[in-house]
Amino acid sequence: ASALTLANVSKSFVNTEVIKGVDLDIAQGEFVVFVGPSGCGKSTLLRMIAGLEDTTGGDIVIDGNRVNELPPVKRGIAMVFQSYALYPHMSVFENIAFPLRVEKLPQGEVDSRVNGAARVLQLESRLQQRPGTLSGGQRQRVAIGRAIVRQPKIFLFDEPLSNLDAALRSEMRVELMELHKRLGSTMIYVTHDQIEAMTMADRIVVLSAGEIEQVGSPLELYHRP
Ligand code: ADP
Ligand code: ADP
Repeated sequence: ASALTLANVSKSFVNTEVIKGVDLDIAQGEFVVFVGPSGCGKSTLLRMIAGLEDTTGGDIVIDGNRVNELPPVKRGIAMVFQSYALYPHMSVFENIAFPLRVEKLPQGEVDSRVNGAARVLQLESRLQQRPGTLSGGQRQRVAIGRAIVRQPKIFLFDEPLSNLDAALRSEMRVELMELHKRLGSTMIYVTHDQIEAMTMADRIVVLSAGEIEQVGSPLELYHRP
């Protein structure tokens, strides 16, 4: 089944078209990586999928509904940003719990979801610390935890590893792939790093100047000139 459909999606800023008629169908549980050079439109596309930015043309459809016609909590989408945007004065627990506080979930439900996410992300012993006392990789995991507790159908990642050093990046790649296997959720991941695309994706979407240049599995793209 289809998790998300982009139908002839376009986006213009003032009079420049930066996304030009993108068509793409993403299956449930698929790990799709958008790759391409800086400025090709990856973030704009992701932000439109998240509903953070309106499309200028075309439709983005989730479960038969247009994204921009659904209230944010009904979209089933959670986004993990490059800048982790953690609250320095709050504990790791409260940073992860934050979206659930916004939704006013009962404390028991908050506790069980945060502890569940912390177990998956190996942050159980860090829950009472402040983010400033954590390593870069641990902070990134807190940001991912904040997305996990919302139990989204679709995760969006905007260059989540680009602030980490090479060793941590490769470790986090493996962790994200394990997370994908464990949760079975649809994941859409934006990067300019071809290694990330090749190692993590079920399917790679190569963007160039706002258009899809190539789509295929890592193997298919590797063997194509
Ligand atoms: P990428 O994520 O691939 O680096 P972006 O989606 O950030 O690319 O940007 C695509 C194009 O749209 C770039 O030319 C960028 O300058 C332009 N752009 C992005 N956001 C805005 C904006 N808010 N106003 C005007 N132009 C924008
Ligand atoms: P403070 O920032 O005031 O020290 P915390 O952020 O430590 O408070 O905790 C805020 C809420 O989260 C409390 O209601 C607490 O019961 C709950 N909480 C904190 N850590 C855990 C945990 N490891 N397991 C379950 N609940 C927790």
